[in-house]
Amino acid sequence: MAWLLDRVVVGILPVLPKPLVGYFSRRYIAGTTIAEAFETVRALRSLGAMSSLDILGENIEREEEADRAESGYRALLEAIAREKIDSGVSVKLTQLGLKLDVGGCQERIDRLTARAAELGIFVRIDMEDSTVTSDTLRVFRSLRARHENVGVVIQSMLRRSLADVEQLAAEKANIRLCKGIYVEPHDVAYRDREIIRRSFVELLDVLFSGGSYVGIATHDERLVFEALALIRRHRLRRDQYEFQMLLGVAEPLRRILIEAGHPLRVYVPFGEQWYAYSVRRLKENPQLAGTIARAALTRRKR
Ligand SMILES: Cc1cc2nc3c(=O)[nH]c(=O)nc-3n(C[C@H](O)[C@H](O)[C@H](O)COP(=O)(O)OP(=O)(O)OC[C@H]3O[C@@H](n4cnc5c(N)ncnc54)[C@H](O)[C@@H]3O)c2cc1C
Repeated sequence: MAWLLDRVVVGILPVLPKPLVGYFSRRYIAGTTIAEAFETVRALRSLGAMSSLDILGENIEREEEADRAESGYRALLEAIAREKIDSGVSVKLTQLGLKLDVGGCQERIDRLTARAAELGIFVRIDMEDSTVTSDTLRVFRSLRARHENVGVVIQSMLRRSLADVEQLAAEKANIRLCKGIYVEPHDVAYRDREIIRRSFVELLDVLFSGGSYVGIATHDERLVFEALALIRRHRLRRDQYEFQMLLGVAEPLRRILIEAGHPLRVYVPFGEQWYAYSVRRLKENPQLAGTIARAALTRRKR
Protein backbone atom coordinates (compact mmCIF):
# COMPACT_ATOMS: atom_id res chain seq x y z
CA MET A 1 0.00 0.00 0.00
CA ALA A 2 2.98 2.32 0.60
CA TRP A 3 3.52 2.69 -3.15
CA LEU A 4 -0.09 3.80 -3.52
CA LEU A 5 0.40 6.51 -0.89
CA ASP A 6 3.61 7.58 -2.66
CA ARG A 7 1.69 7.94 -5.95
CA VAL A 8 -1.05 9.89 -4.18
CA VAL A 9 1.52 12.28 -2.69
CA VAL A 10 2.97 12.87 -6.17
CA GLY A 11 -0.54 13.43 -7.53
CA ILE A 12 -1.27 16.13 -4.97
CA LEU A 13 2.13 17.85 -5.23
CA PRO A 14 0.72 20.75 -7.26
CA VAL A 15 -1.78 21.64 -4.51
CA LEU A 16 0.60 21.20 -1.57
CA PRO A 17 1.78 24.40 0.12
CA LYS A 18 5.12 25.57 -1.31
CA PRO A 19 6.99 25.33 2.02
CA LEU A 20 6.02 21.65 2.26
CA VAL A 21 7.33 20.96 -1.26
CA GLY A 22 10.47 22.88 -0.23
CA TYR A 23 10.83 20.53 2.72
CA PHE A 24 10.47 17.49 0.42
CA SER A 25 13.03 18.71 -2.03
CA ARG A 26 15.88 20.00 0.11
CA ARG A 27 18.18 17.18 -0.98
CA TYR A 28 17.85 18.14 -4.67
CA ILE A 29 18.43 21.89 -4.34
CA ALA A 30 21.47 23.69 -2.95
CA GLY A 31 19.48 26.57 -1.41
CA THR A 32 18.48 29.88 -2.92
CA THR A 33 21.70 31.93 -2.68
CA ILE A 34 25.19 31.71 -4.18
CA ALA A 35 26.64 31.34 -0.66
CA GLU A 36 24.46 28.28 0.02
CA ALA A 37 25.31 26.76 -3.37
CA PHE A 38 29.05 27.22 -2.70
CA GLU A 39 28.67 25.38 0.62
CA THR A 40 27.27 22.41 -1.30
CA VAL A 41 30.08 22.59 -3.87
CA ARG A 42 32.68 22.58 -1.09
CA ALA A 43 30.99 19.62 0.60
CA LEU A 44 30.94 17.70 -2.70
CA ARG A 45 34.61 18.57 -3.26
CA SER A 46 35.46 17.04 0.11
CA LEU A 47 33.73 13.84 -1.10
CA GLY A 48 35.85 13.83 -4.27
CA ALA A 49 33.16 15.17 -6.66
CA MET A 50 33.31 18.13 -9.04
CA SER A 51 30.29 20.38 -9.62
CA SER A 52 28.35 22.29 -12.25
CA LEU A 53 26.20 25.10 -10.83
CA ASP A 54 22.80 25.82 -12.33
CA ILE A 55 20.67 28.86 -11.51
CA LEU A 56 17.13 27.50 -11.65
CA GLY A 57 14.72 28.96 -14.16
CA GLU A 58 13.63 28.39 -17.77
CA ASN A 59 11.15 29.55 -20.39
CA ILE A 60 10.98 33.22 -19.49
CA GLU A 61 8.41 35.48 -21.15
CA ARG A 62 10.01 38.94 -21.26
CA GLU A 63 13.39 40.30 -22.41
CA GLU A 64 13.97 41.86 -18.99
CA GLU A 65 13.81 38.40 -17.42
CA ALA A 66 16.47 37.21 -19.86
CA ASP A 67 18.64 40.21 -18.93
CA ARG A 68 18.12 39.42 -15.24
CA ALA A 69 19.15 35.79 -15.85
CA GLU A 70 22.30 37.00 -17.62
CA SER A 71 23.13 39.27 -14.66
CA GLY A 72 22.55 36.36 -12.28
CA TYR A 73 25.00 34.16 -14.19
CA ARG A 74 27.46 37.01 -14.48
CA ALA A 75 27.41 37.47 -10.69
CA LEU A 76 27.82 33.70 -10.27
CA LEU A 77 30.88 33.61 -12.57
CA GLU A 78 32.52 36.50 -10.71
CA ALA A 79 31.81 34.86 -7.34
CA ILE A 80 33.22 31.49 -8.50
CA ALA A 81 36.45 33.22 -9.52
CA ARG A 82 36.64 35.48 -6.46
CA GLU A 83 36.09 32.64 -3.98
CA LYS A 84 38.19 30.18 -6.02
CA ILE A 85 35.33 27.68 -6.23
CA ASP A 86 36.09 24.62 -8.34
CA SER A 87 32.94 24.48 -10.48
CA GLY A 88 31.58 24.96 -13.97
CA VAL A 89 28.13 26.36 -14.78
CA SER A 90 25.13 24.86 -16.62
CA VAL A 91 22.83 27.22 -18.51
CA LYS A 92 19.40 26.80 -20.13
CA LEU A 93 19.13 28.93 -23.26
CA THR A 94 15.38 29.51 -22.85
CA GLN A 95 16.27 31.27 -19.59
CA LEU A 96 18.37 33.67 -21.70
CA GLY A 97 15.50 34.28 -24.12
CA LEU A 98 15.97 31.59 -26.82
CA LYS A 99 12.21 31.40 -27.47
CA LEU A 100 11.81 35.18 -27.57
CA ASP A 101 14.68 36.09 -29.89
CA VAL A 102 17.50 33.74 -30.88
CA GLY A 103 19.83 36.65 -31.71
CA GLY A 104 19.39 38.29 -28.30
CA CYS A 105 19.92 34.95 -26.56
CA GLN A 106 23.05 34.33 -28.63
CA GLU A 107 24.49 37.69 -27.55
CA ARG A 108 23.78 37.01 -23.87
CA ILE A 109 25.35 33.55 -23.83
CA ASP A 110 28.26 34.85 -25.91
CA ARG A 111 29.03 37.55 -23.33
CA LEU A 112 28.75 35.04 -20.49
CA THR A 113 30.96 32.44 -22.19
CA ALA A 114 33.59 35.05 -23.06
CA ARG A 115 33.74 36.18 -19.41
CA ALA A 116 33.79 32.54 -18.23
CA ALA A 117 36.73 31.90 -20.59
CA GLU A 118 38.66 34.81 -19.06
CA LEU A 119 37.99 33.34 -15.61
CA GLY A 120 38.78 29.74 -16.65
CA ILE A 121 35.22 28.46 -16.09
CA PHE A 122 33.49 25.82 -18.24
CA VAL A 123 29.97 26.53 -19.57
CA ARG A 124 27.58 23.65 -20.30
CA ILE A 125 24.53 24.44 -22.42
CA ASP A 126 21.69 22.23 -21.09
CA MET A 127 19.35 20.67 -23.64
CA GLU A 128 15.63 21.42 -23.33
CA ASP A 129 12.58 20.09 -25.18
CA SER A 130 12.78 19.10 -28.85
CA THR A 131 11.24 22.34 -30.13
CA VAL A 132 14.55 24.07 -29.31
CA THR A 133 17.10 21.33 -30.15
CA SER A 134 18.11 22.78 -33.53
CA ASP A 135 18.40 26.35 -32.22
CA THR A 136 20.36 25.18 -29.18
CA LEU A 137 22.86 23.29 -31.35
CA ARG A 138 23.14 26.26 -33.71
CA VAL A 139 23.89 28.64 -30.82
CA PHE A 140 26.35 26.09 -29.39
CA ARG A 141 28.25 25.80 -32.71
CA SER A 142 28.49 29.52 -33.08
CA LEU A 143 29.83 29.81 -29.50
CA ARG A 144 32.28 26.98 -30.08
CA ALA A 145 33.71 28.77 -33.11
CA ARG A 146 34.90 31.46 -30.70
CA HIS A 147 35.31 29.76 -27.31
CA GLU A 148 36.90 26.50 -26.14
CA ASN A 149 35.21 26.42 -22.72
CA VAL A 150 31.77 25.31 -23.87
CA GLY A 151 29.87 22.05 -24.26
CA VAL A 152 26.32 20.96 -25.03
CA VAL A 153 23.93 18.11 -24.14
CA ILE A 154 22.52 15.28 -26.26
CA GLN A 155 19.46 13.22 -25.27
CA SER A 156 19.45 9.51 -26.17
CA MET A 157 15.64 9.44 -26.34
CA LEU A 158 15.59 11.65 -29.46
CA ARG A 159 15.52 9.89 -32.83
CA ARG A 160 17.68 12.63 -34.38
CA SER A 161 20.50 12.20 -31.83
CA LEU A 162 22.54 9.66 -33.80
CA ALA A 163 22.85 12.07 -36.74
CA ASP A 164 23.62 14.96 -34.35
CA VAL A 165 26.24 12.94 -32.51
CA GLU A 166 27.98 11.79 -35.69
CA GLN A 167 28.49 15.43 -36.61
CA LEU A 168 29.40 16.56 -33.08
CA ALA A 169 31.90 13.72 -32.68
CA ALA A 170 33.55 14.75 -35.95
CA GLU A 171 33.84 18.25 -34.46
CA LYS A 172 35.23 16.73 -31.22
CA ALA A 173 32.61 18.66 -29.29
CA ASN A 174 32.41 18.33 -25.51
CA ILE A 175 29.12 16.52 -24.85
CA ARG A 176 27.00 15.64 -21.84
CA LEU A 177 25.00 12.55 -22.77
CA CYS A 178 21.72 11.87 -20.93
CA LYS A 179 18.43 10.06 -21.63
CA GLY A 180 16.34 13.25 -21.81
CA ILE A 181 13.77 14.43 -19.31
CA TYR A 182 11.05 16.01 -21.48
CA VAL A 183 7.82 14.38 -22.63
CA GLU A 184 8.15 14.25 -26.42
CA PRO A 185 5.89 13.20 -29.32
CA HIS A 186 6.42 9.64 -30.56
CA ASP A 187 7.68 10.69 -33.98
CA VAL A 188 10.43 12.69 -32.26
CA ALA A 189 11.51 10.41 -29.43
CA TYR A 190 11.71 6.75 -28.47
CA ARG A 191 9.35 5.70 -25.72
CA ASP A 192 10.65 2.21 -24.99
CA ARG A 193 13.05 2.35 -22.01
CA GLU A 194 15.24 -0.39 -23.48
CA ILE A 195 15.60 1.42 -26.81
CA ILE A 196 16.51 4.64 -24.98
CA ARG A 197 19.21 2.69 -23.13
CA ARG A 198 20.54 1.07 -26.32
CA SER A 199 20.57 4.43 -28.01
CA PHE A 200 22.57 5.85 -25.06
CA VAL A 201 25.23 3.14 -25.42
CA GLU A 202 25.43 3.55 -29.20
CA LEU A 203 25.76 7.34 -28.96
CA LEU A 204 28.43 7.00 -26.30
CA ASP A 205 30.37 4.62 -28.54
CA VAL A 206 30.20 7.06 -31.48
CA LEU A 207 31.33 9.96 -29.27
CA PHE A 208 34.25 8.03 -27.79
CA SER A 209 35.26 6.79 -31.27
CA GLY A 210 35.35 10.38 -32.52
CA GLY A 211 37.46 11.56 -29.56
CA SER A 212 34.82 13.71 -27.85
CA TYR A 213 35.09 14.38 -24.12
CA VAL A 214 31.85 12.99 -22.66
CA GLY A 215 29.99 13.71 -19.44
CA ILE A 216 28.11 10.44 -18.93
CA ALA A 217 24.99 11.71 -17.16
CA THR A 218 22.99 8.85 -15.69
CA HIS A 219 22.04 7.15 -12.43
CA ASP A 220 21.02 3.99 -14.27
CA GLU A 221 23.38 1.26 -13.04
CA ARG A 222 23.00 -0.71 -16.28
CA LEU A 223 24.19 2.29 -18.28
CA VAL A 224 27.03 2.95 -15.85
CA PHE A 225 28.09 -0.67 -16.35
CA GLU A 226 27.93 -0.33 -20.17
CA ALA A 227 29.82 2.97 -20.03
CA LEU A 228 32.60 1.41 -17.96
CA ALA A 229 32.88 -1.40 -20.54
CA LEU A 230 33.18 1.20 -23.35
CA ILE A 231 35.75 3.19 -21.38
CA ARG A 232 37.85 0.03 -21.09
CA ARG A 233 37.34 -0.93 -24.75
CA HIS A 234 38.38 2.54 -25.96
CA ARG A 235 41.28 2.54 -23.45
CA LEU A 236 40.29 6.01 -22.26
CA ARG A 237 42.35 7.99 -19.79
CA ARG A 238 40.63 9.61 -16.83
CA ASP A 239 40.90 13.01 -18.48
CA GLN A 240 38.79 11.91 -21.47
CA TYR A 241 35.43 11.42 -19.74
CA GLU A 242 33.52 12.00 -16.52
CA PHE A 243 30.36 10.64 -14.94
CA GLN A 244 27.65 13.14 -13.99
CA MET A 245 24.77 12.89 -11.55
CA LEU A 246 22.09 15.15 -10.12
CA LEU A 247 22.41 16.50 -6.59
CA GLY A 248 20.71 14.19 -4.10
CA VAL A 249 20.23 11.29 -6.53
CA ALA A 250 21.86 7.82 -6.46
CA GLU A 251 24.46 8.78 -3.86
CA PRO A 252 25.66 5.19 -3.23
CA LEU A 253 26.42 4.71 -6.95
CA ARG A 254 28.15 8.09 -6.98
CA ARG A 255 30.37 6.96 -4.08
CA ILE A 256 31.22 3.66 -5.80
CA LEU A 257 32.40 5.46 -8.96
CA ILE A 258 34.46 8.01 -7.03
CA GLU A 259 36.09 5.30 -4.92
CA ALA A 260 36.98 3.42 -8.10
CA GLY A 261 38.83 6.56 -9.22
CA HIS A 262 36.45 7.81 -11.94
CA PRO A 263 35.98 11.57 -12.36
CA LEU A 264 32.45 12.52 -11.33
CA ARG A 265 30.58 15.81 -11.46
CA VAL A 266 27.36 16.70 -9.65
CA TYR A 267 24.78 19.03 -11.16
CA VAL A 268 24.04 21.55 -8.41
CA PRO A 269 20.84 23.56 -8.98
CA PHE A 270 20.02 26.52 -6.76
CA GLY A 271 18.08 29.76 -6.81
CA GLU A 272 14.78 31.44 -6.13
CA GLN A 273 12.94 29.43 -8.78
CA TRP A 274 13.36 26.08 -7.06
CA TYR A 275 9.67 25.10 -7.10
CA ALA A 276 9.20 23.76 -10.68
CA TYR A 277 12.47 21.83 -10.51
CA SER A 278 11.52 20.28 -7.17
CA VAL A 279 8.15 19.09 -8.39
CA ARG A 280 9.85 17.49 -11.42
CA ARG A 281 12.42 15.66 -9.25
CA LEU A 282 9.78 14.43 -6.79
CA LYS A 283 7.51 13.21 -9.59
CA GLU A 284 10.43 11.09 -10.76
CA ASN A 285 10.86 9.61 -7.33
CA PRO A 286 7.44 8.96 -5.76
CA GLN A 287 8.99 6.78 -3.07
CA LEU A 288 11.02 9.68 -1.73
CA ALA A 289 8.02 11.99 -1.84
CA GLY A 290 5.99 9.43 0.13
CA THR A 291 8.72 8.74 2.66
CA ILE A 292 9.33 12.39 3.36
CA ALA A 293 5.61 13.13 3.49
CA ARG A 294 5.17 10.42 6.12
CA ALA A 295 8.18 11.72 8.08
CA ALA A 296 6.79 15.25 7.94
CA LEU A 297 3.36 14.09 9.08
CA THR A 298 4.65 12.00 12.00
CA ARG A 299 6.83 14.88 13.13
CA ARG A 300 3.75 17.11 13.13
CA LYS A 301 1.80 14.64 15.25
CA ARG A 302 4.43 14.74 18.03
C1 LIG B 1 24.11 15.72 -14.61
C2 LIG B 1 22.82 15.58 -15.34
C3 LIG B 1 22.44 16.57 -16.23
C4 LIG B 1 21.26 16.45 -16.95
N1 LIG B 1 20.96 17.39 -17.90
C5 LIG B 1 19.87 17.21 -18.67
C6 LIG B 1 19.60 18.06 -19.77
O1 LIG B 1 20.34 19.01 -20.06
N2 LIG B 1 18.48 17.83 -20.51
C7 LIG B 1 17.63 16.78 -20.23
O2 LIG B 1 16.65 16.59 -20.96
N3 LIG B 1 17.87 15.95 -19.19
C8 LIG B 1 18.95 16.13 -18.42
N4 LIG B 1 19.20 15.26 -17.40
C9 LIG B 1 18.14 14.30 -16.97
C10 LIG B 1 18.25 12.99 -17.70
O3 LIG B 1 17.88 13.20 -19.05
C11 LIG B 1 17.34 11.92 -17.08
O4 LIG B 1 16.02 12.33 -17.12
C12 LIG B 1 17.67 11.57 -15.65
O5 LIG B 1 19.05 11.54 -15.45
C13 LIG B 1 17.09 10.19 -15.29
O6 LIG B 1 17.62 9.21 -16.16
P1 LIG B 1 18.67 8.09 -15.69
O7 LIG B 1 19.61 7.88 -16.82
O8 LIG B 1 19.29 8.47 -14.42
O9 LIG B 1 17.82 6.78 -15.61
P2 LIG B 1 16.49 6.41 -14.80
O10 LIG B 1 16.12 5.07 -15.30
O11 LIG B 1 15.48 7.49 -14.85
O12 LIG B 1 17.01 6.32 -13.33
C14 LIG B 1 17.86 5.27 -12.91
C15 LIG B 1 17.78 5.14 -11.40
O13 LIG B 1 18.29 6.33 -10.80
C16 LIG B 1 17.53 6.69 -9.70
N5 LIG B 1 16.91 7.97 -9.91
C17 LIG B 1 16.70 8.60 -11.10
N6 LIG B 1 16.13 9.79 -10.91
C18 LIG B 1 15.97 9.90 -9.56
C19 LIG B 1 15.43 10.91 -8.73
N7 LIG B 1 14.94 12.04 -9.20
N8 LIG B 1 15.45 10.70 -7.39
C20 LIG B 1 15.96 9.58 -6.88
N9 LIG B 1 16.46 8.57 -7.61
C21 LIG B 1 16.45 8.74 -8.93
C22 LIG B 1 16.49 5.63 -9.50
O14 LIG B 1 17.01 4.67 -8.61
C23 LIG B 1 16.35 5.05 -10.87
O15 LIG B 1 15.90 3.73 -10.85
C24 LIG B 1 20.40 15.34 -16.71
C25 LIG B 1 20.79 14.34 -15.82
C26 LIG B 1 21.98 14.44 -15.16
C27 LIG B 1 22.39 13.32 -14.25
